[in-house]
Amino acid sequence: MSVIMPTYQRLPVTFVRGEGSRVFDTAGRAYLDGLSGIAVTNLGHSHPAITEAINRQAGTLLHTSNLYHIEAQEQLADRLAEATGMEQLFFCNSGSEANEAAIKLARRYGHMQGIEQPTIVVLESAFHGRTMGSLAATDGESKRAPFAPMLPGFVRVARNDLAAVQALSTDKRVVAVLVEPIQGEGGVWTLDDAYLAGLRALCDQQNWLLMFDEVQSGNGRCGSLYAFQRLGITPDVLTTAKGLGNGFPIGCCMARGTAATVLGPGDHGTTFGGNPLGCAVALAVLDTLQSEQLWLRADPIREGILAAVKADVHDTNTLTEIRGTGLMIGLEVTVPSNQLVADALAHGSLINVAAGNTLRLLPPLTYSDEEARELGSLVAGVINRAQENTP
Ligand code: PLP
Repeated sequence: MSVIMPTYQRLPVTFVRGEGSRVFDTAGRAYLDGLSGIAVTNLGHSHPAITEAINRQAGTLLHTSNLYHIEAQEQLADRLAEATGMEQLFFCNSGSEANEAAIKLARRYGHMQGIEQPTIVVLESAFHGRTMGSLAATDGESKRAPFAPMLPGFVRVARNDLAAVQALSTDKRVVAVLVEPIQGEGGVWTLDDAYLAGLRALCDQQNWLLMFDEVQSGNGRCGSLYAFQRLGITPDVLTTAKGLGNGFPIGCCMARGTAATVLGPGDHGTTFGGNPLGCAVALAVLDTLQSEQLWLRADPIREGILAAVKADVHDTNTLTEIRGTGLMIGLEVTVPSNQLVADALAHGSLINVAAGNTLRLLPPLTYSDEEARELGSLVAGVINRAQENTP
């Protein structure tokens, strides 16, 4: 019996190597990666620029401390600030940690205005992580109830319901609104343009911080470096992680305007966050994304996948809705979803199921057109077999 705490129900496979869009198991069998380790390896596996950056930095300097200046951290911060318009950045090691920083920032922002019980507006079907702060912001009783009591200071409203947020205008405790512009774990939902514009206007009017969790949607995945740039709504606080390190753990909480003036010496900290190795890797990720404008591949790859799914699925009624933006793809299916992932694996592809009956695809930005078609056909096969096997 494994001595690893059983917090995950693992599929019966072990991958030992990855190359481009494929991973290989212990028997040498190849699988087409349609999941990117849940939106992490946006540049595919064993990308030479990333391998080179890791090797170079590993032979130079791994870790010092945030007690000192860190060259790669300063370079990365400058580059991200320039690319996003954000003004102050805090580096950490994961998406949850980036959101913890954002939650602390929002609370401190409230205290600076004399608000003693600062409250953050969050959405139904939101996912922000599993640490106690980010878990309190996350929706879903099954994730939360076993760990009660939750951190107070959150109020939850329905997705895309602007009136519900407007109704909170009289609540003097509210300091911020935290949303994923494209919800991932909660079922792949792109928030409506008008809703996001409405949130921006409301936050401006109320002096609330608009905080975007782009842990999953960022780093090229949704057709721009960060999804907010495509959606045309700029947040005050932006969190990211996952694809920023292409597999090396790094996260970041960025802020602009008043939000950028909130955290000072002693307000927050981390031993590993922003270490030389993580930042060197993220710099290589950013270089690769920007020099090739790789985010421009998101839509063509999406279209290639969806065209193949639609062409190869036997009964189009099994596909009731296609959601998401760029390479966050959600396919709402009528077939039972419990065997889809295992069947895809058995037939050589990695996919996922998000909340309910949403088949979820998160392929890398480095797919060729052929690989996009291949994934689409494999997904259609999974849906077709599920339908045939359903009495
Ligand atoms: N926020 C979003 C939108 C996510 O999708 C995730 C992870 O899936 C997280 C936060 C948590 O990130 P991590 O698992 O790196 O802590």
